Amino acid sequence: MVYACDSCHFLFYRASPVKQCPDCGKESIRKATQEEIQEFEQRTETNLWDE
Ligand SMILES: [Zn+2]
Repeated sequence: MVYACDSCHFLFYRASPVKQCPDCGKESIRKATQEEIQEFEQRTETNLWDE
């Protein structure tokens, strides 16, 4: 599942539920919207190509 942080707009993937943002540590996590998931996947693909 892809999550988004409302505080810092960090997008990240976790297999298990999370409560805290790994970036800013705040508990403003929600499920990412479809739009954000697509953005996240595109970013991941870009990173793979870079390496
Ligand atoms: Zn955050």
